[in-house]
Amino acid sequence: MLNEYISANNLRKTQERYTILRQICKFPSQFTADQLSTLCAQELTVSRATIYNSLQLFLDSGIIVAHPLYAGSKVTAYELAIRKNNIINFQCTKCGRVVAFENKAIDTAIRGYRYSNFVPANYSVYVFGECKVCRRKPKTK
Ligand SMILES: [Zn+2]
Repeated sequence: MLNEYISANNLRKTQERYTILRQICKFPSQFTADQLSTLCAQELTVSRATIYNSLQLFLDSGIIVAHPLYAGSKVTAYELAIRKNNIINFQCTKCGRVVAFENKAIDTAIRGYRYSNFVPANYSVYVFGECKVCRRKPKTK
């Protein structure tokens, strides 16, 4: 997919891009640019600009998707597009932690529905609330 996209858009096939994509595949679910940067630093020297440029390239080519994060956060979470289906994301509005679960019933409901004038490719399901860790924390004023 990346090869086709890069060829179609006359982009250079750089070793860096493949290394970055390989690192992205290591994340079981969502990741931030910071987390990706840290992981990549173990294998190659790569600037933050390269990380962001590559993320944009992967977004444009549909390899990854960007997740809308909870209100008040300026951080974007990314995820491999192929990992996205069948998943419900439970996102903590306090700390931003995301726990993902598979849910066949919701997947069947979304896929089984006939949409007029629309062909769905991917979908995201978010449930916002408070995680176990934040619930345990004593409330501070
Ligand atoms: Zn939390």
